[in-house]
Amino acid sequence: MHLSLRNIQKHYAGAAALAGVDLDIVSGELIALLGPSGSGKTTLLRIIAGLLSPDAGEVRFGDRDATRLSLRERNVGFVFQHYALFRHMTVAENIAFGLRSRPRARRPDKATIARRVDELLQLIQLPDYGGRHPEQLSGGQKQRIALARALAIDPSVLLLDEPFGALDAKVRVELRRWLRRLHDQTGQTTVFVTHDQEEALELADRVVVLREGRIEQVGTPDEIYAQPASAYVFDFIGRGNAIRGRVQAGVFVAEDEIGVLDAPGIADGEAVAMFRPHQAVRNDEDGEGIRVRVSGVHRRADRITVDLTPGGGLLPIEWERVAEDDIALPAVGEALVLRPTRPRFFPLPA
Ligand code: ADP
Ligand code: MG
Repeated sequence: MHLSLRNIQKHYAGAAALAGVDLDIVSGELIALLGPSGSGKTTLLRIIAGLLSPDAGEVRFGDRDATRLSLRERNVGFVFQHYALFRHMTVAENIAFGLRSRPRARRPDKATIARRVDELLQLIQLPDYGGRHPEQLSGGQKQRIALARALAIDPSVLLLDEPFGALDAKVRVELRRWLRRLHDQTGQTTVFVTHDQEEALELADRVVVLREGRIEQVGTPDEIYAQPASAYVFDFIGRGNAIRGRVQAGVFVAEDEIGVLDAPGIADGEAVAMFRPHQAVRNDEDGEGIRVRVSGVHRRADRITVDLTPGGGLLPIEWERVAEDDIALPAVGEALVLRPTRPRFFPLPA
């Protein structure tokens, strides 16, 4: 099912939770809504579900205006962060719930429902769990059952609100890979909400980065990582160093003139240069780069992080190297010139 959101707005007590969101969700894709707490992810998901009405805007399911349709009429599947399994029902009864509670005319017969439950238990790789009760399951198993329950009704779209948020880190990673494989099998149109950029990048076909109720960028994980549209996205997607300065005629001059970087094609004006800690090399003393002083060296199993303090009032930056045996580490106190290999420049103020 193709979904279109047009100019979706929602206000609470005068403050915009969503300030005009336009988004197309392509049939069969797994799309992640990514943003910090309070950026509007849950509000947007609930509006797609029909659990909440927008103040303005339109929600389309295929070529149908769904803005005023209920959750049931939209036929969506929903999974929340906190297991919402019915405790007094078995796993099989939980999965069958959506089908059993349909009006009689649209309710499948008992044998059909039982077959569908078996299929779903196979799909989520818990084939022998139908007779158990929720309290006999681990957190990860409960979320897999919740997913099966949401899928049972053949939903037009599957909506997941931080479904792995309450699980420990290792289980989260396993489950997101599992969900990705499951999606490759089912091709179910899916919207996945998370505040965890790693989860979004690993799982999704496309990522929507939200900031204060607006879309900051939409793109594939590669695009979001390698071509962030703003300093905000750059920072949110991974670790980044930021250096303020000014671009003039294709050259970035860092504040306090602590160095220059080539900035071909970048408009004149105040800007911030950003780069990942591992995307930098040491340069000659009079070469392109930022003049810094080493203020700390931290060795970990596979990486070495070097803390660098630029001159002037600029923030400290980090340089990260892979820990090869023959690596020559700078000494604390040493001065060096660091050249970012893939700097990105963003105009200020952002
Ligand atoms: P997220 O899921 O990204 O953490 P939400 O969509 O839950 O963000 O919230 C977006 C904004 O709307 C936040 O500022 C939040 O405080 C506000 N908000 C959400 N729901 C309500 C509500 N029922 N009443 C008042 N404010 C709300
Ligand atoms: Mg939320």
